[in-house]
Amino acid sequence: MSSGKRRVVLASNNAKKAAELEALLAPLGWEVLAQGALGITEAEEPHPTFLENALAKARHAAAAAGLPAIADDSGLAVPALGGAPGVHSARFAGEPRSDARNNAALLAAMQDLEGAARRAFFYSCVVFLRTADDPLPLVAEGRWWGEILTAPRGEGGFGYDPLFYLPEWGKTAAELAPEEKNRLSHRGRALRRLRARLAREGA
Ligand code: IMP
Repeated sequence: MSSGKRRVVLASNNAKKAAELEALLAPLGWEVLAQGALGITEAEEPHPTFLENALAKARHAAAAAGLPAIADDSGLAVPALGGAPGVHSARFAGEPRSDARNNAALLAAMQDLEGAARRAFFYSCVVFLRTADDPLPLVAEGRWWGEILTAPRGEGGFGYDPLFYLPEWGKTAAELAPEEKNRLSHRGRALRRLRARLAREGA
């Protein structure tokens, strides 16, 4: 590479995640490549934990690209629903994936819940692998607590953001500016923790 930057492949085809990661890692000398740009397909996510799914995604991308890889696996957990939608967040209402149908399914599942039972958190698990068979993955997590509204509010963000209300801000995640959401969110927290570990432990 003429830039002399270290390259890392992002095991996601989400352009927003790639841009967010690029901004965090560029100061450390990392160039972030989205796996889609390298012709790498999405990995299966068959596991019951976020950690295992994040590892599977990172391993798939590292093997295909022959480069270090970063993956995140994330979702919404409602303790009063036993942690659902959890690892099934992206497909809570089945195939094909639809944020609108997932939000409707969540509202239906929570229709009899009130007060503290409407508390929920987003969770993100981020994994960095130096190679596909790296025995020492770097792992970082982030949580973001809020409450699930009874109707959607706001146009920004994605997924469950219009139902995820932050009492201290008086807004849903879909009503926050993108940089505010990055500062507060589960994924922003996990990625900043990962960045700190990368800066400390190197790759
Ligand atoms: P993943 O991309 O396979 O990790 O799926 C994550 C799923 O969790 C998304 O499809 C959303 O349904 C949900 N999710 C994760 N992070 C967020 C967020 O920041 N806002 C809203 N929904 C999220």
